[in-house]
Parts: sequence; C-alpha cells; structure tokens
Amino acid sequence: MILSSIIPFVSTLNDVEERLWLDVLSKSMPNESVLPLRKLTDKERKLVDVAIVANPDPTDLQALPNLVWVHSVWAGVEKMLQQRESPRYSIVRLVDPELSRAMTEAVLAWTLFLHRDMPAYAHQQSRALWQPLPYFSAKDRSVGVLGLGELGQQAAQALEKQGFQVQGWSRTEKHIANISCLFGEEGLAQILEQSDILVCLLPLTPHTEGLLGSENLAKIKPGAQLINFARGKIIDEDALLYELNTGRIKHAVLDVFMYEPLPRSHPFWTHPNITVLPHISAPTTPQSAAQIVAQNIRNYRHLSLLPKIVDTQLGY
Ligand code: NAP
Repeated sequence: MILSSIIPFVSTLNDVEERLWLDVLSKSMPNESVLPLRKLTDKERKLVDVAIVANPDPTDLQALPNLVWVHSVWAGVEKMLQQRESPRYSIVRLVDPELSRAMTEAVLAWTLFLHRDMPAYAHQQSRALWQPLPYFSAKDRSVGVLGLGELGQQAAQALEKQGFQVQGWSRTEKHIANISCLFGEEGLAQILEQSDILVCLLPLTPHTEGLLGSENLAKIKPGAQLINFARGKIIDEDALLYELNTGRIKHAVLDVFMYEPLPRSHPFWTHPNITVLPHISAPTTPQSAAQIVAQNIRNYRHLSLLPKIVDTQLGY
C-alpha cells in the first residue's frame, strides 16, 4: 500500500552535495517527490515508508515513525549500524555495477603500481639513480583479495585475467573459476602468509574492525605490499606503521583511514613507504546510483519487492 509519494532525502551532506543528489534523484523518479527531511511537515513524516539516505544522522530517521526501509546511496553502511539498538527499518545499500567497475579499475591500477615497483623507481629518480630492479612476471606474483563480495569478486577476476595468481578470502565458502577461494581462520592465515600483494575489500563490521592488527599483520609474508580500499578501521594504524618501519611490509597504498580527512600531522603523509589517497578508489556516481535507487523504489511500489537488505547482526 502506498502511504505517500514523498521520499525524504536524509543526509549530513553540505548544501551543494544535497542539491546535486536531490536533482538527480528527482529526475530519475518523476512520480515521486524527493525532498530534504526538514521540508516535511509532521503529518507528512508520519506517512513516509521509504527514505533515501547518504550518511544520515540516525536520530533524524527517528522522526519517521512508519519507515519500512531506507536506501543508502553509499555502498558501506557501517555508520548506520553503530546505534545501540538495531534499527526498526530495513537498510538497503548501494550495489552499483559502475561502482564495481571503478573499484576494479583502482585495484588493477594500484596493484600494477606495486607489482612494477613504481614507489621504488620514484624514490630512485629523486636521487638520480639509474638502477634496474629485478623483474617479476605477474604469474609469479600472488595477489590476495580480502572480501569476495560485489567489489572483491570482480576485482579478483580482473587480477586473474591480468595474469596474477589470485587467492580470495570471504566469510562463507565460494567457488570462482581460476581463483583459489579461502574462508575461515585457516584461510585467513594462508592468504596472509602467501600473498605478495594483499588487497582489502572487506566491509567494516564488528568482526572485521581491527582484523589487520599486530597479530595478523605479523603473519603477512615478509616483503609483501598492502592495499586498503575498504575502511580505515579494519587496519590497526600503529601496528601497520611498525611493520612498515621494520621493512616486513614493503609498501602500503591507503585510500581509507581511521580519521578522514587524514590529519595533516599524521605520520602516514610523509612515510616513504606509504601512498596516501583521499578516499577516491571508487567514488559513487550520482547518476548511476540514482537510476538504481529509482528502480528499487519502483519495484517496491509496484511489485512489493524489497532489494537485498543489510544483515544487522553480521553488520553488512
Ligand atoms: P559486500 O558485497 O557486502 O561483500 C563483502 C565481502 O566481505 C563478502 O565476500 C563477505 O563474505 C566478506 N566478509 C564480510 N565479513 C567477513 C568476515 N568477518 N570474514 C571474512 N569475510 C568477510 O561488500 P562490497 O560491496 O564488496 O563492499 C566492500 C566494502 O568496500 C564496503 O563495505 C565499503 O566499506 C568499501 N567501499 C570502499 C569504497 C572506497 O571508495 N574506498 C567504495 C565503495 C565501497 P561472504 O561473501 O561470505 O558474505
């Protein structure tokens, strides 16, 4: 039953970003009124059954007593699950082929950056040092992908096509052609011990927060390199610095951090073996995201179908 065709957009974005989202969402849903939450009257708030959210303050959603579900325009929804009690509405996160494509591109780009020793050659250039380093073929490099979901699976397959030996790790068992799929504690130990380049594409959950702390980082193959395109809190930053300083981990490409933007005084900025990126590996594209949100809302309105919802117990 349609309670209302008003859909509040609930976010903590600035005015410019909010206007952009309202514009693309409204264009992709001409039969709905997508409005900022603050524009809704008390009566309208009571009629709302679906909301679109971008990093919302969860207390704002309490103003919508009949909310059935929310559609996030972000892929990661960990902040929405940090409340003490589970939310009474379902959460749908963004699953967008364009996001997976962009992440695959980033994983390939930065894996090749590490594989072809670009940090070392940049350092040599700064010292006018002409020094070829040993060449390794992709088939002799093992790349490990932590997380085989929407992003990890496609990235792992692209790495395999590029010629790398690829292992992946997930919570449940998987079977993907030409990729050695691991799971569980033993699987984690194996992927850490065997990967030359390790790519993190796990969601941040109570089980993955601090997963790459001192104990697990110490299992990483000596001389291995690390890419984190998932969430900063999955890696213990001090433990990573320790491993980089001892040289056990050769280089880290980090797109996500415990605190963002990364504070100017943070030691990562100037560390010779860290590449800092400003959370850009796979930006949400409003146009494609709005099309996906619109289709999901049409399916709900006309077919009473809800897309796959986030498991609040598992945290993803
Ligand atoms: P997803 O489809 O939910 O996949 C998550 C994967 O992680 C699944 O394979 C899952 O295992 C595995 N996993 C979850 N908990 C685990 C655990 N405790 N142990 C082992 N494996 C576990 O998520 P996604 O769409 O691929 O996105 C992953 C994350 O990327 C997002 O949560 C977000 O934080 C991040 N992200 C970053 C950017 C950026 O620009 N930096 C952009 C978009 C997304 P199962 O397959 O067994 O369930």
